[in-house]
Amino acid sequence: MKEDNGCPGCSGTEFAPTHVKDVVRCKTCGGIISRPGKVVPAVATLLFVKDKMKGGCEHPRYFDFTYRSEAHGDATRVHGWYDPADGMVVQYG
Ligand SMILES: [Zn+2]
Repeated sequence: MKEDNGCPGCSGTEFAPTHVKDVVRCKTCGGIISRPGKVVPAVATLLFVKDKMKGGCEHPRYFDFTYRSEAHGDATRVHGWYDPADGMVVQYG
């Protein structure tokens, strides 16, 4: 799959689909992103990235989602780096 917009993490342009609609994985850096202009269910973020922070990890991966908050229904963008080993967030933004 090719996207017009590159990966926000590494500018790669080759993506593989995931089992979540409109969420793709960058073939270059392994980052997971929602496709440009798409709002994904909040549950999609929880499949890959836990809402817990830790200090650091050796090989973090990028994430960038626009998801619809279950609480208010607003579209919210969340992005940063997470540890693929345990899904915990290493850094936001
Ligand atoms: Zn990438």
